[in-house]
Amino acid sequence: MKRTLVIAPNWLGDCLMAQPLLTLLTAKQPSFEIDVLAIPAVAPVFRRMPEVSKVIEEDFRHGRLDLARRWRLGRALKGRYAQAFVLPNSWKSALLPFFADVPLRVGYAGESRFGLISVLHRNPARGPNREPMVRFYAQLAEPPGRKLAGELAQPLLRVDPVAVIAAKVALGLKPAERLVALCPGAEYGPAKRWPAEHFAETAARLKAQGMLPIVLGSPKDVPIGLSIEQLSHGAALNLAGKTTLDQAMHLIAGSAMVVTNDSGLMHVAAALGRPQVALFGSSSPQHTPPLSAAAVVIYKRLECSPCFARECPLGHTRCLTGIAPADVLAAIARAA
Ligand code: SF4
Repeated sequence: MKRTLVIAPNWLGDCLMAQPLLTLLTAKQPSFEIDVLAIPAVAPVFRRMPEVSKVIEEDFRHGRLDLARRWRLGRALKGRYAQAFVLPNSWKSALLPFFADVPLRVGYAGESRFGLISVLHRNPARGPNREPMVRFYAQLAEPPGRKLAGELAQPLLRVDPVAVIAAKVALGLKPAERLVALCPGAEYGPAKRWPAEHFAETAARLKAQGMLPIVLGSPKDVPIGLSIEQLSHGAALNLAGKTTLDQAMHLIAGSAMVVTNDSGLMHVAAALGRPQVALFGSSSPQHTPPLSAAAVVIYKRLECSPCFARECPLGHTRCLTGIAPADVLAAIARAA
C-alpha cells in the first residue's frame, strides 16, 4: 500500500476545513493510505476522520524552528511516503517531508518555499473577497494551474454515542440533560469574540427554558468562561479548560444546540452535524463558514466588514457588540 503524508495545520478550524482535501485524495487515489503529522492540540480531530489511517503526533511548538527534531523524525520516516501535502504556509513546516526524501511534496509557495516544495501552487489573492478556505486546501488535490471544479464533501467526524454519555458523566453532567454548548473563545483575537455579557444573558434565558448552558474552550478561555458563569449568576456552567479536546468534541456531539464564535469549535460542531448559531465579527462567513446545513450564521455585514483584524481597528467592534442576545435566541429557535 502506498502512503501519503499530510502535514496538518496548527489551527483546529483549519484542520476541519482541510478534511475535504483528504476526502478528495481518498476518492482520487484509493490505493493510498493517508497518515497525518499533527501537533497534540489538533491531533484528536484527525483520529475521528474516516480518511485518516494513522496520526503521528509531534509537539512542534508554534514559533520554534525545532530543526534537529524535524531532521531526526524526517530521517526516521525516510522512504515511507510516496507523496506529502504540506498544508501550513510556513517554511519550517515543509522541512520534514524534504528531510524524509518524499519524492512529491505538494503545497503553496507560502514563504518562498522553492526547492522544499516540489509541486508548487501559487499563493492565492488575500483581498476581502478571498476564496473559501476549504477550497484553498482542496485545490492541492489538483495539479498547479488546474482549477478545482464541483462541490466538496462536508467535514465529518466520527463519534461513539457511548463515549458521549461517558464524557457527560465524567464531567458531572446527567446523560439526559439538554445541553447548549457555548463556545466564547477565538484564539485569533477579540475582534472575533462576542461579548461575555451577551453570552451570559443568552445563557440565563436558555436556562429559564429548561436547558443547561455549558461553556467549552481551551485553558486560554478559562477567564471568559468564568465571566460568563458569574455574569449569568450560575446559569452557565464553566467547563472551559476542564475538558480535553476529545471530551469537548463529545460534549458538542451530545448538545442540542451550539452557540459559537467563528472558531475551531464552530467547525467541530459543523463536522458533528449539530444545530448551531455561528457569530461572525471581523472575519467572513464566505471565507470560513461552518460547513453544515444545520448552522445559522449571524453576520452584521457592516461597511468595514470583513476587516480580518485581530483587534478592531476602529476601537468599537460593533460587528459583534451589535448582535443582541435576542437576535441569537431567535436564531436558536430557527436552527433547532
Ligand atoms: S473594523 Fe468593523 S469589522 Fe473590523 S472589527 Fe471593527 S467593527 Fe468589526
